[in-house]
Amino acid sequence: MNQYLGQSSKSKQSQTTISRRQFLSSSVATVAGLSMVSRLVADEEKTDLATNASKALIAISYDLEMSAGYPIKGKPRNAYPWDHQKGNLNDETKQYTVESCRIVKEAGGVLHSFLVGQVLEHKNVDWLKQIIQAGHPIGNHTYDHVRITAKNPNDIQYRFQRAPWLIKGKTPAEVISENIRLCELAMQQRLGIKPAGFRTPYAFANGIADRVDLQEMLLSLGYTWISSQYRGPSNVNHKNPTKADFDAFIATHKQHQPYVYPTGLIEVPFSPPMDVGAFRARSWKLDDFLQLIEKSVLWAIENRATYDFGVHPSVMYVEDPEFKTIKLICNLVKTAGDRAAIVDLGTFARRARQQYEKQNQKRAQQKSVNNEKCL
Ligand SMILES: [Zn+2]
Repeated sequence: MNQYLGQSSKSKQSQTTISRRQFLSSSVATVAGLSMVSRLVADEEKTDLATNASKALIAISYDLEMSAGYPIKGKPRNAYPWDHQKGNLNDETKQYTVESCRIVKEAGGVLHSFLVGQVLEHKNVDWLKQIIQAGHPIGNHTYDHVRITAKNPNDIQYRFQRAPWLIKGKTPAEVISENIRLCELAMQQRLGIKPAGFRTPYAFANGIADRVDLQEMLLSLGYTWISSQYRGPSNVNHKNPTKADFDAFIATHKQHQPYVYPTGLIEVPFSPPMDVGAFRARSWKLDDFLQLIEKSVLWAIENRATYDFGVHPSVMYVEDPEFKTIKLICNLVKTAGDRAAIVDLGTFARRARQQYEKQNQKRAQQKSVNNEKCL
């Protein structure tokens, strides 16, 4: 059993789980049955990891899209067509993603990608099939990289500013909902998979806490968790970050733990720093970035918390061509032994759900004790 598949075998609960797994593995012989069994086993392993509060959960997540201002730094961000063609991935971005997945899997983890549906218009999508085959989950990032909070047609996506006829006669809410469905449809038809979660294009300081309509729309589309929240520190030094700047980032990690909105939808924030913020906006050097990532992962391990390293391969292949950052993360998790694991973001969501249900049970018990006192 590799590192990702769980290290909690000493606990009674895990012994029970393993015997269930052994039973499942030995009791079904058909090919279809075996595939169902492997899904059940993977499901149980994720539940084990989510339940084990003594373990920090670390994720590596990639948004599969092109990024303004790349690949040639120094050129004005409008020198490339990416704002209108987010899914027109270049070969370097695809290769970087495939190699990253290989590195993370070798370290016993998975890499969670979020796909802009436009990518599936490319002639060849074998590289994505290869990733899926290796067990890496892929989530929905909308078809055209739309801003789901938009209330005005002009704010939905640059593409629709230039070609408004594509959304003529539809409300922004209809365009957004259809754009999410379109990505699902493309993933099902071209890749044969359902999306593993949803990440909003762009990020919002409070997630979508103040947009109950969007939470309900996503729940009605079948999503139990989303990733929409990011709030980096303000007033951080440009170009040459200091220890105080790093501390300011670390102080935000507590606010980036997964939680449940009152509607029941789970929010899985992605953790600062973001690659575009560090490299494009602040012009950091890779060494500074690496220092902060190391401190961040160590903070998560120390606090048995979650940390999602969410970046863009279209940026990282330019800024970190030798994969130093993900290799660093894999090494830190390996060194942590039983105290950490590299998991998908669905496991973050499971942990949030479990904690939420535990708190609700506690509240209900407390309420019944208080009621008894009043009798
Ligand atoms: Zn994006």
